[in-house]
Amino acid sequence: MDHREGIVDLRSDTVTRPTPGMYEAMARAPLGDDVLGDDPTVRALEERVADMLGFERALFVPSGTMANLLAVCSQCERGDEIIIHEGGHVVNYETGAFAGVGGCVGRGVPSEDGTFGPEAISARVRPSDSHFARSRLVVVENTSNAGGGTVWAPDLLRRVRDRAHALGLLVHMDGARLWHASIACGVRLRELCEGFDTVSVCFSKGLGAPVGSAICGSDATIGRAHRIRKMLGGAMRQAGVLAGAALYALEHHIDRLVEDHAHARLLAEGIARVAGLRIDPGRVRTNIVVFEVDDASGLCERLRARGVWMLPVGPDRVRAVTHLDITRDDIERAIEAVGACC
Ligand SMILES: *Cc1c(COP(=O)(O)O)cnc(C)c1O
Repeated sequence: MDHREGIVDLRSDTVTRPTPGMYEAMARAPLGDDVLGDDPTVRALEERVADMLGFERALFVPSGTMANLLAVCSQCERGDEIIIHEGGHVVNYETGAFAGVGGCVGRGVPSEDGTFGPEAISARVRPSDSHFARSRLVVVENTSNAGGGTVWAPDLLRRVRDRAHALGLLVHMDGARLWHASIACGVRLRELCEGFDTVSVCFSKGLGAPVGSAICGSDATIGRAHRIRKMLGGAMRQAGVLAGAALYALEHHIDRLVEDHAHARLLAEGIARVAGLRIDPGRVRTNIVVFEVDDASGLCERLRARGVWMLPVGPDRVRAVTHLDITRDDIERAIEAVGACC
């Protein structure tokens, strides 16, 4: 019996286990030693991702945290400043690696939904003066986790990219859930990535792979990232067993994200009907549902006792994320449980 049978786990889209088809792909993947550069499955994955996103080169890494750290370390010097949404993953959920390892400082942009405009960059870029850190990198997160799965409007993305470049800054897109953004706005990945200096993506979130992320960029940037990955202990040997899962996910698990988005909307509509909970279901466009309640931890504890797992992300905020292992029945069970717990 599945040890999680009967549990509706909405804490994150990272909780998925490989499907039988994915396990088969992992077992069949041809392997080599990727540190020596000859794992054919890792090679195939890196080429596929670079092509899908429209970059010269991609690098397979163990986590999104490492992908983002490599984006910082391969493009910034110590003392450089990064302009990013104040709730951004890079400055909030990566143990301060951009500072602790990368030696950079962060300059936060406040915004409700995680997006910001070109004027926010102009207002924060530092004059060239020996008193100041050097402004170097703008990070946009698409979709925005803290924003509640917000999709950046493609036009806003282009304007922010162009303003950054006009000011002499580089732009990195944290695309842990870029697949979701592409499906939600109906714009191809390549188009969303156009002109960005680096983009990171995760295979271990909504795509359902057990492990792995990638960073994409120019030959020169990824060449530097490749050295730093080794320095951080992130070079892996028969990594094709993991890359095989990621390749399978790219083939089979992107188009189905529409289901996760529909499930999230359904859940948000159910939550909106419960007295004492606050959410605008119209703002839920991808797979993340964030709602407000007076006592977030208390509600999550009561839900857990009913087999429905959600995550308190603030004293009065709860997050639920839909994914590959969540069915429509699970969503109905979750709505029922929420109603019973409030
Ligand atoms: C999950 C996530 C990451 C990286 O996460 P890992 O757990 O290190 O793989 C980066 N950015 C965003 C927006 C994320 O949601």
